[in-house]
Amino acid sequence: MIRDQHKHDALIHDVRSFVREVAIPNETRVERDDAIPDEIVATMRELGLFGWSIPEEYGGSGLTTEELALANMELSQCSVAYRVRVGANTGVGSESLIQDGTEEQKRHYLPKLASGEMTGALGLTEPDAGSDATNLQSSGERIEGGHYLLNGHKRYITLAPIANLVTLFVRTESGANKADNISAFLVERNSPGLSFSASTPKMGQEGGPIGEIWMKNLRVHESAIVGGKPGMGFRTVMKALNKQRINLAALSTGPAIRLLDEAIAYARTRKQFGSAIGGFQLVQAMLAECKVEIEATRALILATARKRDRGEDVTMDVSLCKYMATEMCGRVADRVVQIFGGQGYVKERGIERMYRDVRAFRIYEGTSQIHLLNIAKQLLRREPGQAT
Ligand SMILES: Cc1cc2nc3c(=O)[nH]c(=O)nc-3n(C[C@H](O)[C@H](O)[C@H](O)COP(=O)(O)OP(=O)(O)OC[C@H]3O[C@@H](n4cnc5c(N)ncnc54)[C@H](O)[C@@H]3O)c2cc1C
Repeated sequence: MIRDQHKHDALIHDVRSFVREVAIPNETRVERDDAIPDEIVATMRELGLFGWSIPEEYGGSGLTTEELALANMELSQCSVAYRVRVGANTGVGSESLIQDGTEEQKRHYLPKLASGEMTGALGLTEPDAGSDATNLQSSGERIEGGHYLLNGHKRYITLAPIANLVTLFVRTESGANKADNISAFLVERNSPGLSFSASTPKMGQEGGPIGEIWMKNLRVHESAIVGGKPGMGFRTVMKALNKQRINLAALSTGPAIRLLDEAIAYARTRKQFGSAIGGFQLVQAMLAECKVEIEATRALILATARKRDRGEDVTMDVSLCKYMATEMCGRVADRVVQIFGGQGYVKERGIERMYRDVRAFRIYEGTSQIHLLNIAKQLLRREPGQAT
């Protein structure tokens, strides 16, 4: 749902200008320094990028799912690092709080996340809990005075090296159902007992660091549990991820659009055998295949976003979006490297960087395999004849 077309067009215009005039010209610098320069973060804060998904009453712009999807498709047409920098605040780093936080927790944290004063992160994954996210080994033991002692180890946490507010998921009780005794705690970076690694070296997405988090006898009051009630953490994170999967699908479509634009420009100018390579039908087929897949994905994402805005159940649709967009982006990146030939493989033009950056999309927030399983599970629950 677009609430006000005029306002929305102005937002998209501002994001497009930021991407073209600030973000793209600084991509090599971001990759080299493995960080977004402070002055660019300041510009992103001024543009309100950190508050897109946060309700207006808490200082954000309260974008609808459709508005957010369109804005994300625009913002992600530059190096992935930029949208990673704001993406925790407009996604996994705030969504648990938006979904299930108490009024006091929302009033305390959401305005700081919306302005970018605080950077959020979500700490779910552990060495023994990846796709099987309910297999958490981190524990929260209830002690005197309404406190918990948290112990455990998280890994691959986006922005852990710089985040100052982490939503940490730990097991607070033992029980038969592994999903029922997980609690989400809001913990600030400087808390005694909480420590962070430096940036974990990885394949791509330089400037969007990930890292490890250790809890060693981290003492936290029960008022820091999201929603104030223990045992609800897994339900909370699933609700947050449900929305985030539409965001991620949109954020995987922007890079494909950018890659196709780059490929078209190159195909027009690069000459072999006396003519532009864009004149060769085998190259044309690669361009056309990219376009078909981008438009089909875009249509699915926007239809799903509108459905969610209407309050309909999108449990299966979000998996369709996440799977389709991330796999599509991988195929587009591969074709575009091919269209650029050697220029796609060497560092000069940044095509190889985009190819490496987008590879992670198929792994995080549910691997492709997990989403296929989810789609099949939902289908098999339906009555015959209800597949579509
Ligand atoms: C760049 C990056 C950023 C991340 N950011 C965050 C973050 O901010 N917060 C956070 O909590 N986590 C984060 N993660 C972790 C991410 O969510 C996990 O990596 C992901 O869920 C997969 O878990 P895993 O790596 O342990 O792989 P595994 O679960 O070990 O999977 C390995 C392989 O087995 C397959 N597999 C597993 N189970 C099944 C099954 N039942 N059927 C079929 N195939 C299966 C998988 O699809 C995969 O191919 C991040 C990861 C990366 C790479």
